[in-house]
This record gives sequence, structure tokens and C-alpha cells, in this order.
Amino acid sequence: AAAAAAATEEPIQPPVDVKYTKLLINGNFVDAASGRTFATVDPRTGDVIAHVAEGDAEDINRAVAAARRAFDEGPWPRMTAYERCRVLLRFADLIEQHAEEIAALETWDGGKTLEQTRGMEVPMVARYMRYYAGWADKIHGLVVPADGPHHVQVLHEPIGVAGQIIPWNFPLLMFAWKVGPALACGNAVVLKTAEQTPLSALFVASLLHEAGLPEGVLNVVSGFGPTAGAALCSHMGVDKLAFTGSTGTGKIVLELAARSNLKPVTLELGGKSPFIVMDDADVDQAVELAHRALFFNQGQCCCAGSRTFVHERVYDEFVEKSKARALNRVVGDPFRRGVEQGPQIDGEQFKKILRYVQSGVDSGATLVAGGDRAGSRGFYIQPTVFADVKDEMKIAQEEIFGPVQTILKFSTVEEVVRRANDSPYGLAAGVFTQRLDAANTMARALRVGTVWVNTYDVFDAAVPFGGYKMSGVGREKGVYSLRNYLQTKAVVTPIKDAAW
Ligand code: ADP
Repeated sequence: AAAAAAATEEPIQPPVDVKYTKLLINGNFVDAASGRTFATVDPRTGDVIAHVAEGDAEDINRAVAAARRAFDEGPWPRMTAYERCRVLLRFADLIEQHAEEIAALETWDGGKTLEQTRGMEVPMVARYMRYYAGWADKIHGLVVPADGPHHVQVLHEPIGVAGQIIPWNFPLLMFAWKVGPALACGNAVVLKTAEQTPLSALFVASLLHEAGLPEGVLNVVSGFGPTAGAALCSHMGVDKLAFTGSTGTGKIVLELAARSNLKPVTLELGGKSPFIVMDDADVDQAVELAHRALFFNQGQCCCAGSRTFVHERVYDEFVEKSKARALNRVVGDPFRRGVEQGPQIDGEQFKKILRYVQSGVDSGATLVAGGDRAGSRGFYIQPTVFADVKDEMKIAQEEIFGPVQTILKFSTVEEVVRRANDSPYGLAAGVFTQRLDAANTMARALRVGTVWVNTYDVFDAAVPFGGYKMSGVGREKGVYSLRNYLQTKAVVTPIKDAAW
């Protein structure tokens, strides 16, 4: 019943205008060199929101040239760290002042609920920016002892021009994770946004200039991956790359970096994260947490708890209650109050998810809830739950990136750890138990970048995030993110008079 609501409701008129649709290069909003544009689409209806300048290799050249000038000659790396800190703090204030508008834009372009963008994501962007602002004037090197009569300083310098490529599932948060540390360390940036969600980054980039960012320090190029994205990865004038997206594209990014100038690359890629429910669990709580771990953001999370492992003693009850919870999930217009799930991002993802659902049915998993589109237009999908899922099924191995929960049964800690680790991915894991020993054992044995115990999806600015195995290279957030954007230089001078 909840899912059917999406079919009948008229889309709510978004309370925001689209102000910025051009590329941001050297502090100005400009057309693409080719003059081309592409449509960005409202996932609620499939209708065009706006036509956006479509950057390609030529625009990347222009943006990198601007970033190079800003870095090599401009004031940004040369001003005091405290001044950089204050620009980022003013930016955070402006984000809060424009929170309603930013949240509405993000919801419109990406189909995320307004409650999520306004209540959580926009405030988090401001929080992240203040966190990185706080680092700006606390980055310093070391003086290290040497064997000879040498004075050795280790300097931490900005790395230069950073190329950053972000995905569509969290456009604003990915902006913050990428741009925040790069700017705090004194770098210049060329950001390539995802073609599905170009709007919010342009808006907040304009606020960053209002906050006092010098021209050319942040350039934003909207456009497609194989054109604009690949040109950025291959560019000889780019000193560092940071990418968030699929594992397949991550491999391409790394290859392009290697073939061009060996620029270092940070990668945050896919996952198939286990959420493990032990037999001592309060089943109601476990069901709710596992539900959120998977369905949050329409299931479009790299760290979605997408393999729900449940102990055999509580399995049947867990499946029944997960089914009931999924059937109760409120699907509808993301601008409407009380809606928990909006549409998927686009027609391609929508079709891909439904193909995975079919594959689940074909491989013999039990479909206990959902399984179809919700409504008759837009990209809404019913909250879907599969039980009796086996490890070798495609739905248990591949990233679905949609509202499809797969529930698997286990009997011992040793077994579930082995099965949880039997994946090319290693992004995150959830462990739900009151038993400290089991939690400790699993936290150490799981080969993943984040283990959430009795919680999930906690994203504090100070806590590192990233993947083991094919889920990524490097860490973002926290002090770890700064290392991605700093060079290390040793300066050695003789001490002439050793009489000291
Ligand atoms: P998804 O399949 O979820 O869209 P992608 O990894 O393809 O994930 O997209 C993430 C980001 O990577 C987007 O900004 C996209 O435009 C970009 N991208 C896609 N293909 C390439 C490529 N060949 N080179 C560089 N960037 C790319």
C-alpha cells in the first residue's frame, strides 16, 4: 500500500530554482567549449530539470590550466593557513544560511528524501567543512634526528592540483569529503561531478567563492565519465586523483593515472558489506538496524549492509519481521513529509536493479517482499526482501545498489566470518550482538575498512573511511584524508659547527 502511493501522487513543486548550470572555471560560470549541454533529470518523473553545460577534454584543459595558475602563482597556497581556515569556516556558515535551498536542489536532482538532505546531509557538509577548516592551521612537519651532523626538516607541502571525481549517490557529501581536505591543505582542485547530479556542487561552489576562495582554486566541470572524467585522469597537469564510484571505473582511473604521469590515486569503490545478526540479538532492534543498513538512501550506498547474515536460531523470526518492515516502508515523493524512500537515481539503475531481482528469483531465493517497480512513472522500486539466499547466488555476490535486502543463514561465528570475508570487496561490516567476545573476534577478523558494532552508517568527520581489497585504496575523512593531499619533503642542511 505504501509503495502504491508513488503511483498516484502529483510531484511536489520543488521550492528552489536552478541558478547555476554552467561550468565553473577560474571563478566564472562559463559555457562548455563545444557549446554542448546535457539534461539532468528528475528521478520522480523522468522529466528534465535543466540543461547543463557538458564539459569534455577541452574544458578539463581549461580547468586544469586555471587550477595550475591558482596553485603555481596564486594566493591560495601562499596565504596563511589561518586565512584558509577562515574561508572554509565562512563557507560552512553560508551552507547553513542556504540550507533549505541546497537540500531542495539535492533532493530534486537525486531523488533523496528532503528529510535526509535537510536533516542530515547539508548539516554534515557544514560539519565536515568546519572539521577540515580546523586542520588548515595544524598541518606541520617534523624535525628528525640524523646520524651525521645534519639538520633535517620534514616539510608537509600541498600536493598541487587535485583532480576529483565524484558519484551521484551523495553528491554534496562527496564534495565535502573531497574538496574539504584538498583545500585545507592548500591545494587547487578540478572537480568532475556525476552526470546524473551536477546541480548542488555548482551551487555550493558559488558559495565557496562568496566565502572568499580565490579564483581558479576550485573548478567544477559537469560532464560524462569517458570524456571529461577520463581527460582529468590522464591530464599531465594534475598531481593527484581522488575517485569515488564503481570498482570497474576505479580500475580505469588507476590505469589512466599510471599511463599518464603516475599521479597517486585515492579510490573509494564498491562493496557487498555483511551485516551479521547473532543469536542473542534483540530481534526487533536487529531487524530495524539491518533494514536501515540496506534501505538507507534507496539502497544506493557503497557501504550498504547488503548481505544480511542471520543466526539460524533467530532466522525465521527475523525474516518475518524484515518482511513486515519492508512492506511498511513509505515510498513516495521525496519532498513529502514522512516518506522514507524516494526513486532510484535513473532509468539505467532502475532497470539494473530489477534485473537483479529477476536473477534472485531465477536462482531460487525466496522473494518475501516487493520485487517490482512502485507506481507507474519515475524510478521508484518496491522495498524488496529475499530470504534463503545462498552465497553463490549473484544477488549475494554483486553490488545491487538498490532497495533489495538479501538474507542468509549461518550457525557459527567462525563460519560467518569466513563467508563474510569471502568477497572481493571489503568496505564495511555490521555486527549485532551483546556478546563482547563475539563482537571483538569479528571486529578483528573481518577484512573491511569499517566495522560498526550495534550501529551502522555512523559517519563522523574524524573517523577514517575506506576499503580493504577491491573496495578501495586509501582512506578519506579524519586526519587520514590529509595525507592524500600533502607531499613530504626532506630538507637536509649540514650543521657546520657541531660544538653545540
Ligand atoms: P556508476 O556506475 O554508479 O555511475 P561510476 O563509477 O561509473 O559509477 O561513476 C562515478 C563517477 O565516475 C562519475 O562521475 C562518472 O562520470 C565517472 N566516470 C565514469 N566513467 C569514467 C571514466 N572512464 N573515467 C573517469 N571517470 C569516469
